[in-house]
Formats: sequence, C-alpha cells, structure tokens
Amino acid sequence: MMDFQQIFQTKPDIEASAPGRVNLLGEHTDYNDGFVLPTAIPQQTNVSIGYSPDDHHHFYSAELEERIDVEPTATTLEGFASYVNGCIQVLKQAGYESPPVNVFVTSSVPIGSGLSSSAALEVATLRALRSLLKLDLDDVQIAQLGQQAEIQYAGVSCGILDQMASSLADTEHMLFLDTRTLDRQILPFPAGAEIVVIDSGVARSLASSGYNQRRSECEAAARQLGVKALRDISDPQAVEALPEPIRKRARHVVTEDNRVLKALDGVSAPVFGELMNASHVSLRDDYEVSVPALDTLVELLQGTPGVFGARLTGAGFGGACVALVTLGEAHTIAQTVLDRYNAAGYNGQILVD
Ligand code: ADP
Ligand code: MG
Repeated sequence: MMDFQQIFQTKPDIEASAPGRVNLLGEHTDYNDGFVLPTAIPQQTNVSIGYSPDDHHHFYSAELEERIDVEPTATTLEGFASYVNGCIQVLKQAGYESPPVNVFVTSSVPIGSGLSSSAALEVATLRALRSLLKLDLDDVQIAQLGQQAEIQYAGVSCGILDQMASSLADTEHMLFLDTRTLDRQILPFPAGAEIVVIDSGVARSLASSGYNQRRSECEAAARQLGVKALRDISDPQAVEALPEPIRKRARHVVTEDNRVLKALDGVSAPVFGELMNASHVSLRDDYEVSVPALDTLVELLQGTPGVFGARLTGAGFGGACVALVTLGEAHTIAQTVLDRYNAAGYNGQILVD
C-alpha cells in the first residue's frame, strides 16, 4: 500500500485518527430529536496532512487508490473528495481558512457497511486540520462541523449521531446522547459483556428511499400529535389514536427512546440484551426496516449460548447486526454464528469481534 511520502514526495506535518461506531440502542430516533446509545469500534480512519507545494488541495485515499487534485474554490465534488473538501469548506465558513493541503486517508473502518466510515473520515480530517491550523475547537464542535460537511458537501442529510459517536465515544464505553440538547453521558458497558458486529452481506438497496419515507411518516405523526418531534412523547399509549402506518412508526420511536432511557440505569447485561431484542422486534414489526437476512442473523445470534441480545443496527434494509455477548467470547460466538448464517446461503462477514 502506498504511503503519504510515495504519493506526495514530502512528509506529512500532522496525523489524526477517529473511529467508526456501532449503535447499540436508539435506532431511527436521531431525526426525531430522540436518544441514542452508540459505542466506538476498534477500526479507525487515519488522516495525514501536509502543506501543498502549489495552489491546489490534493487528496488521496489508500483504500480507493484514488488521487484527486482540487481547486481551493471547488464546492461540488463527488465521492470521497466531497467529504474531505467539505471539512475544509465548513471550516472556511466558520472563519478558519485552510491553505492548500495534501491529505492522505487510510482506514480500517469498513466502507459503506453502516459502521460510519463517513463520520470517521470527517472527524479524523477535522482533527488533523485542527492540529495543523491550531484551531480552538472542542470535540462537539468537531462533530457538528463534520455533520455540516456531510450534509452540505456530500449531500447526505444525516443526523448528529455518527459524528458525535466518532468524536466522543471510545471502545470501552457507551455514549448516551440526547440528540436535541446534545446532553451526553459516557457510560461503562454492562458488566461482563462485549460486542459482536456481523454484516449480513445484503446491500442496503432500499435504504435511502425507505429512510426518507420513514422520516416523513415520523414528521406526519408528530404534526398530528401536536408536538415538535416524537421525542416529546414518552407514553406509548399516546400514539394509539394515529392512523396506520404512522401509528406503528411512532410506536417504534417512542418505545425505542424509552428503551435507551431504561439502559441508562446501569442495567445488567441480560437486561440490556432484552432491550436489544425488543428493539429488533420493534424495528421489524413496527418500523418495518428489517429484511429476512437480518431476521435470520439476529435469530442465530439470539439462539447462541453466551449471547445476551441482538438486533439489526443502522438504518436497516440490509447492513449489519450487533449483539451483546459474554466478555471474552465474542470471537468464538461470531465465528459460530457466521458459519451457520453462511451455511444458510448468505455471504456474511464478521466486522467486530
Ligand atoms: P458508512 O458511513 O456507513 O461507511 P456512507 O455511505 O455514509 O457509509 O459513507 C461511505 C463513503 O464515505 C464512501 O463512499 C466514501 O466516499 C467515503 N469514505 C469513507 N471512508 C473512506 C476512505 N477510507 N477512503 C475514501 N473514502 C472514504
Ligand atoms: Mg455514513
């Protein structure tokens, strides 16, 4: 694999990294002003930056083996350059103009698997620019700038979950985040537990159309209930008068917010696992974002000794499942489940164990 020096013929001035993330509880709640509970994964994205010898930015991704030379005024780029350039542009909007730079990206975060390689890329890029330009920005501001980069320059209307998790979480803790107020707590994992993440091998083909439809259903539900967002409803009974399908969509969001709040009480691993199992049922039956492959994978996980609970993670329609398992057994459990899953004709892959 090429390194910074081979690509740019100079040494980098600064290096920074940021992790991917997996959401343990609180799915499809972030755009309802609700609660989420992610953790960082061990895989990280690393960004090295040096000053450019000319008047262009130069970006290179080792994973994509792609080099892009960019005018400092460019605002409409595609692919990975739009994320890196987006970070430079949002800093400029905030009054911090970057001189032309060489940017080298390398990552062990799986790209496009729902573990938020995009937020890891943004947070690592912004951390590197913060060091290079000696900017006075805290980790919450880094997350917010990353979100703006993704919305304005990559064209993805994302919430703040991914960037906050990448910027503030670590692999030893869970990050509780109130997405409305940005109140947060760093919490220990349930005692005696660790996580497994397995990709279903099924692409998230309907993800963007389904996601947008769920978003507007939630907005309609909030409107009919006379609240700003579904986060303002805490009693699941309150949604029962709504017409279908927005009743079940709202029921998922309200019960999911409650599950996250329940998990804050320092619950045991078995109780946390039950909350994950209930989250999956709600995502499958009320929110209708599961697919047969995810249901199969979750059932295999749930039926394996040492597993406290499992659910689909991310937007659904494909992508990955997360499980809470007995500390020290993640590797064995992941391999056992993967073998059974793939024997059923799928093409799964272990992402975290
Ligand atoms: P996810 O965030 O779940 O991995 P996204 O579709 O949100 O999936 O983001 C993936 C995109 O982010 C890639 O298509 C690419 O443009 C960019 N990206 C992330 N990591 C890298 C990387 N290491 N090198 C180049 N591009 C990357
Ligand atoms: Mg992403």
